[in-house]
Amino acid sequence: MPPMTTTIAVVNQKGGVGKTTTVASLGAALTEKKQRVLLVDLDPQGGLTFSLGIDPEDVDVTVGAVLLGTSKTEDAIVVTDDGMHLLPSNITVTQAEEALVSRTGREQRLRVALTKVADEYDWILIDCPPTLGVMTVGALSAAQQVLIPLQAETLSHRGVGQLLDTIHDVKQFVNSELHVLGVLPTMFDGRTRHAQAVITAIQETYELPIIEPAIPKTIRFAEAPAFGRSILGTSRTHKGAEAYRQVAASLLA
Ligand code: ADP
Ligand code: MG
Repeated sequence: MPPMTTTIAVVNQKGGVGKTTTVASLGAALTEKKQRVLLVDLDPQGGLTFSLGIDPEDVDVTVGAVLLGTSKTEDAIVVTDDGMHLLPSNITVTQAEEALVSRTGREQRLRVALTKVADEYDWILIDCPPTLGVMTVGALSAAQQVLIPLQAETLSHRGVGQLLDTIHDVKQFVNSELHVLGVLPTMFDGRTRHAQAVITAIQETYELPIIEPAIPKTIRFAEAPAFGRSILGTSRTHKGAEAYRQVAASLLA
């Protein structure tokens, strides 16, 4: 029987490429389609936690406590205004991350923690920090699929080779099931021929599938976190929200 839960790690060691926005928006789009969704914030900056209306400073039990084994997974999960479940993060996760480095099974801990609640969810989306450290490797070890958001601009694909090397290592040594779903172009400006050329170059250089549609560049994404809602909650008919709905539909198909 195929697994009932699909776990996707959203990964790119470059910051500011749209990882957090993708996790929040795809999660909201899947929730609209009556899917049960758990989001995991692995970034000590707590950007996902914040953008879904929860002040990271008010979070008592983080994903860090779960990874260190001082909290059960279900005790750390909170429900957002958008109706999604979230394993939150805040700055204390930095200490958890440091402590994990000398702990046994550090790369397996997220997988084990998520397995305990997986029955409750159709989708688990993991937001990674902008590094290839223990958190990101843990996410790749827990996931079946990897989604790589990439800003369609000059040289923004520097580092993709290193990311693919990490994915390859995880596949070989830890998680042979891992599958690269593809690159999701974000902040895409369709008016420039250049953006399209970058996407083609990535496809040819790395032989990676490109997930469609590309997510358009729009100021609405920057505004949504201020309301503590994803763009789908604040802007029902926006083209950015619509693009994420289409990506969600293709995940369901
Ligand atoms: P990451 O998690 O990779 O660091 P974020 O999702 O936090 O990236 O996005 C970085 C910044 O870019 C945020 O201010 C966000 O609101 C903005 N942003 C994300 N996606 C888009 C988009 N499609 N168009 C315009 N701005 C975007
Ligand atoms: Mg982020």
